[in-house]
Amino acid sequence: MTDMPIIAEHSFATVEETVQQQKEFFKSGQTFSKEFRMKMLQTLADIIRANERDICTALKQDLNKSETEAYMTEVGFLLEEIRFTIKRLNSWMKPVKVKTAKTHIGSKGYKVAEPYGVTLIIAPWNYPFQLQLAPLIGAIAAGNTAILKPSELAPHTSRLIAKLMKASFDANYIAVLEGGIETTNHLLKQPFDYIFFTGSVPVGKIVMKAAAKQLIPVTLELGGKSPCIVDETANIPLAAKRIAFGKWTNAGQTCIAPDYLYVHHSVRDRLIEEIKKVVKDFYGLDASKNENYPKIINSKHFQRVKGYLSDGELLYGGQVDEEQLKITPTLMRPKDRSVPVMTEEIFGPILPILEYEKVEEVIEFVTNRPKPLALYLFTTNTQTEKQILEKISFGGGCVNDTLMHIATPYLPFGGVGESGIGTYHGESSFVAFSHYKSILKQTNRFDLSIRYPNAKNSLKLM
Ligand code: NAD
Repeated sequence: MTDMPIIAEHSFATVEETVQQQKEFFKSGQTFSKEFRMKMLQTLADIIRANERDICTALKQDLNKSETEAYMTEVGFLLEEIRFTIKRLNSWMKPVKVKTAKTHIGSKGYKVAEPYGVTLIIAPWNYPFQLQLAPLIGAIAAGNTAILKPSELAPHTSRLIAKLMKASFDANYIAVLEGGIETTNHLLKQPFDYIFFTGSVPVGKIVMKAAAKQLIPVTLELGGKSPCIVDETANIPLAAKRIAFGKWTNAGQTCIAPDYLYVHHSVRDRLIEEIKKVVKDFYGLDASKNENYPKIINSKHFQRVKGYLSDGELLYGGQVDEEQLKITPTLMRPKDRSVPVMTEEIFGPILPILEYEKVEEVIEFVTNRPKPLALYLFTTNTQTEKQILEKISFGGGCVNDTLMHIATPYLPFGGVGESGIGTYHGESSFVAFSHYKSILKQTNRFDLSIRYPNAKNSLKLM
């Protein structure tokens, strides 16, 4: 299979012109009203609903996603996020009153959310539709304009996003600038008011460095190695099913997929047997022959993931289909902890398995590495749960499940340390794209003169 050619880069003039047009439009104040924001959110939902089929087709072309997976992780996810936002936007937009300090008697204080202005949203290729539009929901809800930069590695989805947005929104409000590194780098030189980036840690650093030059605030949704810990008290068959779901959805190309397993030695063999059973159940004996099993995005990433297969002893799977760019669900005992599969983010369908005796070993291992985006713990022991959750810092995660914390709009989603800065989803998307202005409204009915230098009874230090 050959990779689609990279999308043409935009001319610098187009980039600059679009940013300037959006600056002018933002200044007009049209994006501020609740009615405008609601209408635009509704328009976005309508576009998604009306084009479900084309969206699924583009995702099939870029990643061989099945319709069910495309709906669950991209289309349905967005529709639910918009529905949730529309229902609550009125209350999120209301000024938030704060208490009055004794020293400020007579005054009132409140915080009011205002949009940042012109925002830039850069997306990766793994959930190329959802990860581009989920932040856009926050940008619209908070009253901003937006320039979207989809991933050039998912070209069918990138083109579709550009086509759909162009057909429904003015470019001075929402514009899509397709392209690769050159376009992104030129965009990063523009005077944005906010940048929302989803992607890898190295590119996250490039984005933050560029933003720092203009002191532009950022949200960085990054990646890393997310551990999945299974202790001796876990419900093993259920754990196996939920781990397999989390690891092999999108063939492991999920930022919060369990990257590696850390399992108590007493249940290791049972867990491996259960996972093998589940994988056969989910995808058949050879997943590469399953037409709904996703492919690796392109040959470069295929070669990268394939390279990990030599980092240890294969316990299951390991079939590769170079033509279709597929690698089957694979379980592996890594040679040691310094091989690439144990030091780099795998972002593919290989699951290395480590075993432990004491939970302290796991805590030591994870806390000696960059803070993960997600952590999963399978246990029925509340002491272990408390210990792990208290001692390990990570973006977010689940106890006795995988991935599901990302799918509820009630939980903010984001990383910590190397796995990211800031959160979004539900109300936290609105918060991410808003600046909260603090206002103190003073009374004119009286004046406490004690603060003035000429006060008779001015404050004296004892
Ligand atoms: P990436 O960082 O390579 O690319 C992301 C975006 O940055 C793309 O739009 C790309 O065009 C642009 N880009 C790439 N290289 C660039 C460069 N040198 N200079 C400027 N711009 C550049 O990431 P990816 O490969 O598309 O996605 C995979 C990564 O994203 C993984 O690390 C994964 O964990 C992470 N991710 C994180 C989340 C999250 O929500 N935290 C979600 C999905 C993916």
